[in-house]
Amino acid sequence: MDWDEFAGWSKHIADWGAQYHQTLRDRPVRAQTKPGEIAAQLPSSPPTQPEDMQTILRDFEDIVMPGMTHWQHPRFFAYFPANAAPPSMLAEQLVNTVASQCMLWQTSPAATEVEGRMVDWMRQALGLGDGFVGVIQDSASSATLSAVLTMRERATGYTGNREGLAGKGPLRIYCSDQVHSSIDRACWVAGIGQDNLVKIKGAGPLSGMDAKDLSAAIHKDIEAGYTPAGIIAITGGTGIGASDDLGPILKVAQAHNLYTHLDAAWAGSAMICPEYREAFWQDVDGFDSIVFNPHKWLGAQFDCSIQFLRDPLPQLNTLKIEPEYLKTSGDAVTNYSEWTIPLGRRFRALKLWFLIRSYGLEGLQQRIRNHVNWAHELCEELRALEGFEIVTEPILSLFSFRCPGDDAMQQRLVDRINDDGRIYLTQGSFEGAKIIRVQVGQFDCTREDVMTIPPVVQEIWDMIK
Ligand SMILES: *Cc1c(COP(=O)(O)O)cnc(C)c1O
Repeated sequence: MDWDEFAGWSKHIADWGAQYHQTLRDRPVRAQTKPGEIAAQLPSSPPTQPEDMQTILRDFEDIVMPGMTHWQHPRFFAYFPANAAPPSMLAEQLVNTVASQCMLWQTSPAATEVEGRMVDWMRQALGLGDGFVGVIQDSASSATLSAVLTMRERATGYTGNREGLAGKGPLRIYCSDQVHSSIDRACWVAGIGQDNLVKIKGAGPLSGMDAKDLSAAIHKDIEAGYTPAGIIAITGGTGIGASDDLGPILKVAQAHNLYTHLDAAWAGSAMICPEYREAFWQDVDGFDSIVFNPHKWLGAQFDCSIQFLRDPLPQLNTLKIEPEYLKTSGDAVTNYSEWTIPLGRRFRALKLWFLIRSYGLEGLQQRIRNHVNWAHELCEELRALEGFEIVTEPILSLFSFRCPGDDAMQQRLVDRINDDGRIYLTQGSFEGAKIIRVQVGQFDCTREDVMTIPPVVQEIWDMIK
């Protein structure tokens, strides 16, 4: 393909993209395909001869698009959002076009310097103390793994990387029982082991661990010969939004000199609104590491996860490696690949720059406030449906409900709603029972989109009850 052809197809795809978004409400939110249906339409062997772009794009529309679930659909209320605001998509097109590897300052100075500035813009937007620096990672899972590796190295006097873990006693990491599975996996991969991730039961249905229970667990472990290494707290758990009370947890961490990491992957976006910080983020400045995903609620196209660090040195001492071919000479510069596990890095900061400038912080705050307010309004409408109950009250824009009947009935209602396609919800579990989970947060959703949920739920319930 030459660059004139490229220009033609790029324009074609840009027009296609605008049209796709303008007509998204006409499509079912969740893909309506059966397993294997898409694969059956793909040739089993690769073509030996070139094919033209027109044919490839036609197959994209005919074969691929029917098998896509539309995460940018304004009536997507499942999981958490993966918002891609249009300015962030444009920035990604530029990043894809220039296609640089931004692992060291010298391999693209602008990428490093824009990243540093964007991390600091976001620090200010979230009201974090001015001591924090940070790095943009691909996902919260990677940031959490980096933090857990740092806990491990710090607790072993930075000998784990060199000597391995054999012969060292078990390390222990503490969290509530509401944490995301990425915390379990970080402990598997870091050599801590699932059995050494101590999960403290939530103090109340929507609250996180009780600091007294946490402290007791640590004392018991020390007596038994274990080495506590760190504590992971959460703001806005994935299931129902459960959140830890940060201050008392930090006091326990301090008493035992433990490294602390806060997972605010979803709810972190809402902390750009000062009024939500009081309930969720008092004392947040005491954490050593904080992760939040601008690629969820905020609108920066996936992937974009910011890890803030109060002091980058423990993580650098854990992850930095400098073979000869990566050495750079001259002034002291930041090489962000030394802060993370992968070497190669995309220029992820550009989409934040485009996003924040295009909407301004006030524009982004207004969206989040709307979502939170609409979720509360929606919750009351669902509560009023005959026989329905709200199981967990809204935490920011997330809550859950149940229809009359047993767990199988809940699943049946969810499946029928998603087969219908006008809205998309997912199931969850709470205290051993199945729940239907709703979050409001898609970037383009309107109040009207949100308010289609009660009549659709009622209509489908009437058909299956
Ligand atoms: C989504 C989510 C994660 C995982 O985020 P990735 O960026 O997909 O790794 C972790 N923790 C919480 C609370 C989340 O909501």
